[in-house]
Amino acid sequence: MRATVMYSAGDVRIENVPDARLIDPTDALVTVTHACICGSDLWPYNQMEQTETGQRMGHEFIGVVETVGSDVRTVKVGDTVVAPFAWSDGTCVFCQEGLHTSCLHGGWWARDGIDGGQGEAVRVPQADGTLVVLPVGKDDALMPSLLTLSDVMGTGHHAALAARVGPGKTVAVVGDGAVGLCGVIAARRLGAERIIILGRHPDRIALAKEFGATDVVSERGDEAVERVRELTGGFGAHSVLECVGYEQSTVTALSIARPGGAVGRVGLPQHESIPTTLTTFFDNVTIGGGPAPARAYIEELLPDVLEGRIEPGRVFDRVTNLDGVPDGYRAMNEREAIKVLIEF
Ligand SMILES: [Zn+2]
Repeated sequence: MRATVMYSAGDVRIENVPDARLIDPTDALVTVTHACICGSDLWPYNQMEQTETGQRMGHEFIGVVETVGSDVRTVKVGDTVVAPFAWSDGTCVFCQEGLHTSCLHGGWWARDGIDGGQGEAVRVPQADGTLVVLPVGKDDALMPSLLTLSDVMGTGHHAALAARVGPGKTVAVVGDGAVGLCGVIAARRLGAERIIILGRHPDRIALAKEFGATDVVSERGDEAVERVRELTGGFGAHSVLECVGYEQSTVTALSIARPGGAVGRVGLPQHESIPTTLTTFFDNVTIGGGPAPARAYIEELLPDVLEGRIEPGRVFDRVTNLDGVPDGYRAMNEREAIKVLIEF
């Protein structure tokens, strides 16, 4: 089968790899129909050291079940399924608490011998815990939005929950990438009264407004903090979603939370320690977040997608096939595209 392999920063190739196949009785074999490139894939795209063997890529996919192991009960051959960006058993103590990313018997796609989503097929470990059967076929027009349940929509929702978004709250979203845009959707969905998007790309800002952003702050650093304070009576936002991961964006996020507010961090931190420890301490700012347990949120968000109340699939502004994936990385890295959908 063919799959995406990254060898070093900027070096993404489509190659023949060993066919995905069942190994454990809890596995399912899924033929991928839709996948995508993630903003987090751009970290290795910019920083990865040269390797001989390369690294398989992709952690967001929808596909059709081809075969199941003898212990699989909840998915069957022919089902259209969505996979969250981490696989999990669904039964351990952390899965029961809704924190599937800490599953005791789970793990991550595209490493440790597990297939990646940016390839023709995937062996899905812990298929019963991991996969969610979709009530629509693989050609349904909702596929882009359903695919966001793998990661970005669940991640935006997680940021909003960690930031304690609720009715009447003023929310600030730091970052206008796909996760930030889904954070806007999530904030509105949870009843936020006012949503300030911090970003500067015109196409993304326009989409953020359609998703429910009420104010735009395009300044950066201290000027951005100043501007948010102006917009919020000098106090800052109740809820701040950090959807980037850089030290500067984290400083901004922590600096625009009002006393007693909360910051939900979902951007993968590119720095060693959490900044502004003293001011956030004296302001009683709650700092939460981490990798979203996307699996925990699929059932909750699915009806909103199926009934058209949210349209997170609009973050995809480019569609390609497997051969177009290397150029998709380039386009996202150069901010030509917000998020690239891969159709097989
Ligand atoms: Zn578990």
